[in-house]
Amino acid sequence: MATSRSPEIRKDAVHNRWVIFSPARARRPSDFKSKTDAASDANPHTACPFCAGHEHECAPEIFRFPPESTLDWKVRVIQNLYPALSRDLDPPDVQCGGAQLAVAGFGFHDVVIESPAHPIHLNHLSPPQIADVLLAYKKRIDQLRGFDSIKYVQVFKNHGATAGASMSHSHSQILALPIIPPAASARIQSMKEHFEQTGECAICQVKQQDLLIHESNHFKSIVPFAATFPFEIWIIPRRHSSHFHDLDREMADDLGGVLKLMLVKMCVQLQNPPYNMMVHSAPLGAESTQLPFSHWFIQIVPQLTVVGGFELGTGCYINPVLPEDAAKVLREVSVQD
Ligand code: AMP
Ligand code: ZN
Ligand code: ZN
Repeated sequence: MATSRSPEIRKDAVHNRWVIFSPARARRPSDFKSKTDAASDANPHTACPFCAGHEHECAPEIFRFPPESTLDWKVRVIQNLYPALSRDLDPPDVQCGGAQLAVAGFGFHDVVIESPAHPIHLNHLSPPQIADVLLAYKKRIDQLRGFDSIKYVQVFKNHGATAGASMSHSHSQILALPIIPPAASARIQSMKEHFEQTGECAICQVKQQDLLIHESNHFKSIVPFAATFPFEIWIIPRRHSSHFHDLDREMADDLGGVLKLMLVKMCVQLQNPPYNMMVHSAPLGAESTQLPFSHWFIQIVPQLTVVGGFELGTGCYINPVLPEDAAKVLREVSVQD
C-alpha cells in the first residue's frame, strides 16, 4: 500500500484491470475543482420539453409518479425521442458467428425525468423524492425483465455537457439491450474469478476503513481501492445483492438520502462538476441465489480529467489522487442540511 508519494499500480478486482496512482502528478487532493460549473445553465426561467406543461413536446410516456397526477407529477419515464435502439424491431437471435456479426438493433431506450421543474437537479431533491426516482428505475427494469430477449439493462445519468448531457433538465436514461455489454460481462467474469479464488464476493470483502466516506443502515459509500478516476464514488448495498431491482421501499428511502449526501459532498468539494452516474447490476435471467459473486453498486464519476492516448491505447488509467486521500476529503467535507 502506498504510504509515500511514490507511484503505485493497483489491481481493481471488480473490473480486472490495473490503475496507476501517480500522486506526483496531482495538486493537493483538496485543491481539485471542476473547470466547468455543470449547474450554471440552470436558468430558472428556461423551459424545455422535459418541463411540466411541455409533456406534448416529448416522446410517449411510459408511466409517471404519482400515477394519477396531472401537472403535479414528480417523475416521468418516457420513450427517448432519438433512441439508440428500436423497440419496434423483431428481437434478434444473437449467436456467435464470424468476424462481422451484425443483428437488428432491437432494444429500449427510455428517459427518466427526475423533476418537473427545470432548475432542480437531482442533488436538490429531498431523499424521498430521490427514492421515487430510484423506484422509477426499478419499476421500469421490472417491466423490461418481462422481455426474454432483453439480457441487460443499463441505467445511467449524464450531468453537464462535458459528461455527455444534451439536455440540462435533470434526467437519467435506461437502455435495455439484447446483448450483455462487454464492460458488464468482464465485470461479472472478474467477480466470479475472485469468488472462486477467495470464496468471497469482491464487494462484500471491502472493509478498509480509510476508503469509507459514509455508512447508512443499508449502504456503504466508498472510494474504491483502485478507483479509475479521481474522486470516483461507489455506493454499495451492505448486504449482498446481485440485482438493483431487488431494491425495496425501505432501501430506496435510505439510498435516496445517501445519494443526495454523496452528490452534495461532491458538488461542494469539487464545485458542481459535470458527472456520470451508473447503476451496475447483474445481467437479467439469473436469479440472485445463483450469483454469490455478483454485487450491484452505483458508481459516480465526476468529470475532472480527460481520457488521453495512454488510456485509449492501454485501457490502463492514471489516477493522480490516492483513493484514501479522496475518501478522507469527501468524509470530512461538511454539508449543510
Ligand atoms: P442526454 O443527451 O444525456 O442529456 O440525454 C437526453 C436524452 O433525451 C437524449 O438521449 C435525447 O435523445 C432525449 N430527448 C431529447 N429531447 C427529447 C424529447 N423531446 N422527448 C424524449 N426524449 C428526448
Ligand atoms: Zn426543462
Ligand atoms: Zn457481495
